[in-house]
This record gives sequence, structure tokens and C-alpha cells, in this order.
Amino acid sequence: MRIKDILSGDGYSVSFEVFPPRRDAPMEPVLDAVKELAGEKPSFISVTYGAGGGANANTVALAEHVQNACGVPALAHLTCLGSTREKIAAEIQALRRAGIENVLCLRGDAPDGGAGGRDFAHAADLVRSLRPSSFCLGGACYPECHPECEHIESDIGYLKAKVDAGLDFLTTQMFFDNNVYFRYLARLRNAGITIPVIAGIMPVTNGRQISRICRLSGTVLPPRFRAIVDRFGDDPAAMLSAGVAYATEQIVDLFADGVKAVHVYTMNKPDVARRIMANLKGILNG
Ligand code: FAD
Repeated sequence: MRIKDILSGDGYSVSFEVFPPRRDAPMEPVLDAVKELAGEKPSFISVTYGAGGGANANTVALAEHVQNACGVPALAHLTCLGSTREKIAAEIQALRRAGIENVLCLRGDAPDGGAGGRDFAHAADLVRSLRPSSFCLGGACYPECHPECEHIESDIGYLKAKVDAGLDFLTTQMFFDNNVYFRYLARLRNAGITIPVIAGIMPVTNGRQISRICRLSGTVLPPRFRAIVDRFGDDPAAMLSAGVAYATEQIVDLFADGVKAVHVYTMNKPDVARRIMANLKGILNG
């Protein structure tokens, strides 16, 4: 099923994200985790793609598992920086053979040493090359500005060009203050970007990692959440409870304010997904 059709439906959309194992790691534990995640009945599951533009058979294999073994629509991420037209064509062929209909078009980050092909400079180039196909295409966007861009206005200007190249929907980088999302959405609509913007929610279960991730991605931890991380960050069980509660509250608040689609960065953790879906049960079944 195409994600744009899911998003145009009446109900709420709650999707999950998983990542494939490293090439030298076994696939089975991830396949099992994905099966459990699928049991929570997300609207779709997205599968990340290793940076660097190299062929990533595990993304296709995992997306195929999501869709064909677990019966949940899959969204395959695909990065283009450092890749070539030939490699991208091979990835697309593999996705098509697996029956995948949705691709998240990403630039990715520069491979080590900047090596690799130079056919693509930005995600918009990938969108342009895939648009003639029948794939449903998504892209990434950054409510707190992409870390390489000096100003949010220029970032939104480039985003508009990416959307106009043929995107069907956007998914945001994680944010921890819903006002950031609402202000950003208003700016996108003012800039003439009218496609759905799925809100990206990260349930934080590891207090130590989150400060580093936020520093790299330019995401701000609001004082209320910073206090939670400071208080519970060193206690995994407490951080799990607090992180799930905070993410649930964000989602409920987004739904209450009219947002219809959230993407939960579940990262191969069925336990986290289960707790969040249990918290949302009355809303999703209503
Ligand atoms: P782009 O849209 O190309 O933007 C990148 C930067 O270039 C921005 O600063 C933008 O303002 C600027 N820019 C765009 N066009 C132009 C132009 N014409 N001239 C000058 N500047 C321009 N990474 C992975 O490796 N694998 C994944 O699976 C993955 N999944 C992700 C999923 C989501 C929802 C998000 C938000 C990010 C994901 N990433 C992933 C990270 C992503 O690859 C990085 O954030 C990367 O730095 C930017 O990718 P992009 O597709 O947003 O790039």
C-alpha cells in the first residue's frame, strides 16, 4: 500500500522505524523484533539505509520481511550521496522485485573520506531521478533546521525545491517541543508546501545517548525534558518509563491539535512500541 493513500485516509497513522543489522551481524534477532513490532499494527514500518550510498542488501531484505512476512506496508530509506545512477537503479530494481512501493529519498551524509560516485549532490536529485517511476516518494525535513544550513528560511527554500521535484510526503527529524513542529508546519504552508508532514517522535530510553544525538542533529532538549534526562538518565528502567510517557504525551498533544500522522523512532525496540501503543489504545480504536 502506498503511504500517500494511508495518509489521505480518515484515521490516525502511527508508523515505526527499524534499522537493519550490520553486514557481519545476524539478521534473525532483527527479523524477530520486526515481527513483534508488526504485531502492534503500525500503519507502516520504515527501514533505514546505511550511509555512504553503497549497496545495502539488508535494507531491501528487511523491507521485504516487513511487507511480505509481517503484512505491514514498508517504507525503504535510500541515500544517494556518494552513489551512482547505476547503483541507485540496481537498488530500485531490487525494491521493485520485493514489491516495495514506498521510498524515503535521502541525501545521507558524506562517506568516510568523501569517496564514491558524484551523480547526486542533494536528496532533490534523487527525487528527480525516481519521480517518473510509480513509487510513492517521501523526504526528510528539519523543524529545527538541518545542521549544515545557516538559516531555516534557506533550508525551507531548498525543501520546497525537493518537494516540487515530486515528493508525496515528508517526515520530520525528531523534536521534543510540539510548538517547534507547529511553528515549522505554519512556515512550510506559507512557503507553499502542502503535502503531509509526518511528525517524528523519538521515545528516549537512553539518557546518555540523547545529549550527543541532539548536539549532532541540532535538536533542542526543552528544559522540562532535560530535567527528566538529568534525573533518570542513568537508570535504564526509570528512563524507559519516563521516555515512553513523554513520547506518549507528545503524540496525544499532536493528535489533540489536529495532527493525523506520527512516525515513532522505535529503533528495533518492540517493548517501547508496545508501551506506546497501549497508551494510545483508546484513541486509535476510537
Ligand atoms: P537534503 O534534502 O539534500 O538536504 C541536506 C542539506 O543540503 C540541507 O542543509 C539543505 O538545506 C541543503 N540543500 C539542499 N538542496 C540544496 C541546494 N540545491 N544547494 C545548497 N544546499 C542545499 N541517513 C541515513 O544515512 N540513512 C537513513 O536511513 C536516514 N533516514 C533518515 C530519516 C529521516 C526522517 C531523517 C530526518 C533523516 C534521515 N537520515 C538518514 C539522515 C539524513 O541522511 C541526513 O540528515 C542528511 O544530512 C541530510 O539528508 P536529506 O535527505 O535531508 O538532504
